[in-house]
Amino acid sequence: MTKTALIRCEKNQDRCPLTGCFTAMADTKEGFAMYDQARPAGVFTCRCPGDNVVDLAKILKSKGAEAIHFCTCTFAKKGGSGWELAPGGFCDHIDNLIEKVHQATGLACVKGSAHLPEGYTPQIWR
Ligand code: SF4
Repeated sequence: MTKTALIRCEKNQDRCPLTGCFTAMADTKEGFAMYDQARPAGVFTCRCPGDNVVDLAKILKSKGAEAIHFCTCTFAKKGGSGWELAPGGFCDHIDNLIEKVHQATGLACVKGSAHLPEGYTPQIWR
C-alpha cells in the first residue's frame, strides 16, 4: 500500500473535483499503475507561480505521503481525440516545480495522475 498525494493546479480548481485522479488512484491505473495498492495521503493546490509548492509538499510528507503526483492537466490538455501532450497543459514550468519538490522532500515525484496522453509513460523523479 503506497500513500500517494496529489498536487493540483489552481487554474483547474473550480472545474475539476479530481474525480478521475482519485479513481485512477483507487484502481491503480494510469499514473498510479506502478503501485499494487494506493491510498490517498492528501491533496494540495499549487498557486502561481508555484512558490508555495515546496512547503505544501513538505506538509504532505509529514502526513505520511510516500509519493507525490502532479496532475496531468499541468502538462497535457484535452483535445478532440483525448488528452494530448501538445500544446501542453496549464503550467509551463511544471518540470522545474517537480524537481524542486523532489529535491526538498526526497519523495518520489510523478508527473501524471489520470487520463494520461496516449503513449506517455509517467516521468518519475526518484
Ligand atoms: S505554478 Fe504551474 S502548477 Fe502552479 S498554479 Fe501556476 S500554472 Fe498551476
